[in-house]
Parts: sequence; C-alpha cells; structure tokens
Amino acid sequence: MPAIISKLPHVGTTIFTVMSSLALEHKAINLGQGFPDFPMSEALVDLVNRAMRDGNNQYVHMNGLPALRNALSEKITGLYGHPINPDTDITVTPGGTYAIYTAFTTILQPGDEVILFEPAYDSYIPNIEINGAIPVPIPMKYPEDNSKGYTIDWDLAKSKVNAKTKAIIINSPHNPTGAVLSTDDIEQLRQLVAGTDIFIISDEVYEHLIFDELPHQSILRYPDLWERSFVCFSFGKVYHCTGWKLGYCVAPAALMGEFRKVHQFNCFTCNSPVQYALAQFIQQKEPYLQLGRFLEKKRDYFAGLMAATRLQPIASHGSYFQLYSYRGISDEPEKAFAQRLTREFGVATIPTAAFYSDGTDHRVLRFCFAKQEATLEAAAKRLVAL
Ligand code: PMP
Ligand code: GLN
Repeated sequence: MPAIISKLPHVGTTIFTVMSSLALEHKAINLGQGFPDFPMSEALVDLVNRAMRDGNNQYVHMNGLPALRNALSEKITGLYGHPINPDTDITVTPGGTYAIYTAFTTILQPGDEVILFEPAYDSYIPNIEINGAIPVPIPMKYPEDNSKGYTIDWDLAKSKVNAKTKAIIINSPHNPTGAVLSTDDIEQLRQLVAGTDIFIISDEVYEHLIFDELPHQSILRYPDLWERSFVCFSFGKVYHCTGWKLGYCVAPAALMGEFRKVHQFNCFTCNSPVQYALAQFIQQKEPYLQLGRFLEKKRDYFAGLMAATRLQPIASHGSYFQLYSYRGISDEPEKAFAQRLTREFGVATIPTAAFYSDGTDHRVLRFCFAKQEATLEAAAKRLVAL
C-alpha cells in the first residue's frame, strides 16, 4: 500500500465528533456539539417536499439557484443597506465551513500568513495549513471580570502584520466565546488593513443569533471593508437545520470570480430542492428577525438553571454558546474534566482548549444552550451535583 504524506500531520478527529461520540456511548445529555434539539419549521420542510415532488431534483446553476440568490440579495440589502449583485457577488455553498475553506483556497499561496483570533473555530487552522500557508493565532484577552467576556487584542494583531500577511479571519458572533464585534472593533480592523492588500474572511454564520439588542456588525455594512472581503453564512444556523449543510459566500465580483473557479471543480452545485424551498421561505422576515430573541431566552433560561451550580458563566452576547469556568471546582485540565463530566455526570460539553493551537487551558467549558427547556433542565440538574 502506498504511504500518504499527510497534508495535515498534526490533525486528529474534530472535538465535536469526539465529544458527540462520547455522549452517545455514555448516554449523556449532549450540550457539546452545536446543534438544536428542537424541531425546525414544518412549513420549510413542506416546501422542500413540494420542490422534490414538483420535479426540482436536477442540478441548479453552479453559483446557486438564481431565485435564491435574488432573495438573498434583497435580504442583505434590507438588513445591511448594501446593494449586492445576485449574479456576480453571491455563491451558494454546501455549508459555511465549505465557504470559508473555499475563500482560503482562493486567495492563499504557500508561505502566506493569516491572522486569526483564538479561541478559534477548529476548521480555520487546518484550512490555512492545507493551502501551505501559515496561521498566525492571536489570543483573545481572557476576561478579568467574567461579566465582560473575551475581547480582541488589536494592538497585538496589528504588531503581527507584515509583507507576508495575506488575510485576517474574523467571526462575530463568535464561537465559542459568544463575543460580538462592536463599531470600535470595526474601526480597529479598518486601521489594521489600511494601506495593505490584506483580505478579510468574515465568518458570520451566527449573524441572527445576537442578543441584548446589539446590532450585528456585518462586514456588509462597510463598503470599504467589503471590497476586500469574503463574507460567509450558513442556513443551518438560521433555520435550525444544521444537517442540511447549505450556506453561501458574498464577495465583490472580482473576488467571487476566482472563488467560483475553485468551487466549480470541488462541488460545482448544491442540493437543489432545498434551494427551491429556501428561495421562497427566506422572503418571510419573521423567522430570522425573531431568532436572536428566541435564543436569548434560552441563554437566560439556562443561566437561571445554572445559577444553582458552582460553574461560573462568562458573558455571551451571541451564538449558540455560553462558556463556564470551573475554577474552584477542579484543577483538572479541560479535556480530562470534560470527559469525566460526560462519563460520571452525564453531560457532554466542549473543552475550550480545543479552540487553541497551543492548547491554552483556562479551565473553561463550552455549553450549547440551543436546546429544549427540558434538555437544559435535565443537564443543569446533573451539574448541580458537581
Ligand atoms: N463557523 C462557525 C464559527 C461555526 O460554528 C460553524 C458551525 N458549524 C460554521 C462556521 C459552519 O457551519 P456549516 O458548515 O455547518 O454551515
Ligand atoms: N459549529 C458547531 C460547533 O461549533 C458544529 C460544527 C461541527 O460539528 N463541525 O459545535
């Protein structure tokens, strides 16, 4: 058998799969991997069924069903005030992860550097490395006061910019911390890229999952930043159907043209009935406009239940996630503690160390609160025993 020279020699199985398998094995409540356990819209399911029955089962246009791209362009203009050309600026992709990977593959040459902030979603660094480029991770500031949450160290980020810096990836609302970018962060980003040819990849899959009446600082609000950006989204997060794996990327025509060259020979085109259904469903604003409030209530409900435990919450203003510190309960490292929590207490979580390239361990676990009340209640009841 020929031996493979691994392109990702340091990579094992993603922590989400590891913890979900452990949860299954020990019949634990799974607050680890980020997915809702409540049902999605029946109306949307019906629309997919109808699209299939109507015979919409063949390839659609490689850039995405035109009706869906038109609907997305209207949505984006309505939300962020930015005109988007549906023919040239949007490509439908099999999920947000794929959109991010394709954006990296489109722009990176071997030896290029990419700035990212840790804790970081676990696909970013392998995406950069598989392209022969070099990740430059910048640790976010761990909060001295838990009520403040994690913040970006922009001075440190700026100090890493050099002639090899090809891109910066940002993510707001942020997985796993729930941090949300402010106008001040946008200004810092603007300063960082000013006078350079640095591209921005903006991971906005949680655009609607934002709380405390904070506005989502989409890159699409800022034409001067958008002109160098690939903005990535996921329908899975918006419509409670993470398993559908459909998303899209928005970028100016010149960048999108190159993105599509990569896309057409990797995936070519995405699932058609789902696109027909979404092209219609997306025209209703209510489902996405009420999403932040819906999940905010879940965050608050979970926080109320968790107040009876010894775990200390760290402020989250968006996403599916809330971090909890277990300092004062155990000195164990996060991975060992998360595994013991799954085995002995029947609750699966994600160790935040998995989001750091150097395994930084603050004794913090990530909990997914996008669950039915009964699931959150059962989990909190078990955690009180800690
Ligand atoms: N980015 C972040 C930060 C995420 O949490 C997710 C969720 N998996 C994604 C991107 C991509 O989502 P998907 O590929 O499932 O659409
Ligand atoms: N985005 C989800 C999370 O952070 C799941 C991603 C995955 O399983 N790859 O939990």
